[in-house]
Amino acid sequence: MRIVLIVIDLQPGILKLRFDMNQPFSRRFSFTLRAVALVSTIFSLAGKVAAQEAAQAPLGFEEYDPVSTLKVEEHVVKRARFPFIDIHNHQPRMPTQDLKELLSQMDALNMAIMVNLSGRGFTQNWDESTEHLKASITNARKTNGSRLVIFTNLVFNDFGAKDWSQRAVKQLEEDVKAGAKGLKIYKSLGFSGIKDEKGNRVAVNDKRLDPVWAKCGELGIPVLIHTADVASFWDPLDRYNERWLELKTHPGRKRGPNDPVPFDSLIAEQHDIFRKHPKTTFVNAHMGWYPNNLKKLDSLMEAFPNMVVEIGAVIAELGRQPRTAHQFFVKHQDRILFGKDSWVPSEYTTYFRVLETEDEYFPYHKKYHAFWRMYGLGLPDEVLKKVYYKNALRIVPGLDKSLFPD
Ligand SMILES: [Zn+2]
Repeated sequence: MRIVLIVIDLQPGILKLRFDMNQPFSRRFSFTLRAVALVSTIFSLAGKVAAQEAAQAPLGFEEYDPVSTLKVEEHVVKRARFPFIDIHNHQPRMPTQDLKELLSQMDALNMAIMVNLSGRGFTQNWDESTEHLKASITNARKTNGSRLVIFTNLVFNDFGAKDWSQRAVKQLEEDVKAGAKGLKIYKSLGFSGIKDEKGNRVAVNDKRLDPVWAKCGELGIPVLIHTADVASFWDPLDRYNERWLELKTHPGRKRGPNDPVPFDSLIAEQHDIFRKHPKTTFVNAHMGWYPNNLKKLDSLMEAFPNMVVEIGAVIAELGRQPRTAHQFFVKHQDRILFGKDSWVPSEYTTYFRVLETEDEYFPYHKKYHAFWRMYGLGLPDEVLKKVYYKNALRIVPGLDKSLFPD
């Protein structure tokens, strides 16, 4: 007697069927048919139960990751259409880094010039950070001084001491002489990171900083300034907060409504220095945290002719309003600079694709910034060239124009 044993693995149980090969052929056949019918019924029942269970099981926002079924034209852009200047980059290891490797990564993206805003590294010790700046400039020049550009920073140690402003201004002059091409102000100014001699928060518009802003104007260098953060960080952490996932994964970014002051107050402090120093050019980082309200930003462009903006870390805001953003870019084409902020070369493709193409509904690279998809702005070449390099060439002194087309 031959017995055929079929074992079907039906998660999570196991179904075993026996076929008796000694039965007459016709009975064997019908037995087989019945067995097949039984198995398929079990399968379809099991499938339905599984689908029902899946539909009823709670699916977390973090797990939900639908595959788009939309079929439209795709233009993945790995390399910018024109050589570009990244005005907002951080390379804190510049004194010791192998910069040839960095240059080849830049080449792959068509990045002609990288501006390292962290010239003084992340120490607040005056001498150490001056050493860091000098070593950064030396290493950059040794590799390719025209493609690796460095901004300096302020040292806030001893802020509030009588001679702080004088010392800072003198240091700034020396840094520019040594080769720094701009001043970067971190968001710690205005937040509680920077305190004066009495332990108080230093406001962005603190009077003791006025000589610094004025000096930048005199020296003809821009101040790239990052103030505050996304307004949602001040909002309640609930289901209505667009940055819920970011605040869940980065709880340190959450702020109470008055921590250290409301969003609007911090932003107002920043605008105050733009108003008080019309001869100084300010590059407002992250579009001044109004990339999601271009009407408001448009009014600020009007109010502060000495302010330009850069698009670091906010491309997801532009990519969700392609028509409004296109209009904004055309209108303010002379006052928008390309920047990215975090140095993750593979993420630049999102920026290029949003700016250059008219692609629809394509993914962004960080779910915690944007759970929505991107649409291309399809900017005209003339506007692209200004955003990619012409505006930065005009604003940052002494850049090598020969690296760019007309
Ligand atoms: Zn930055």
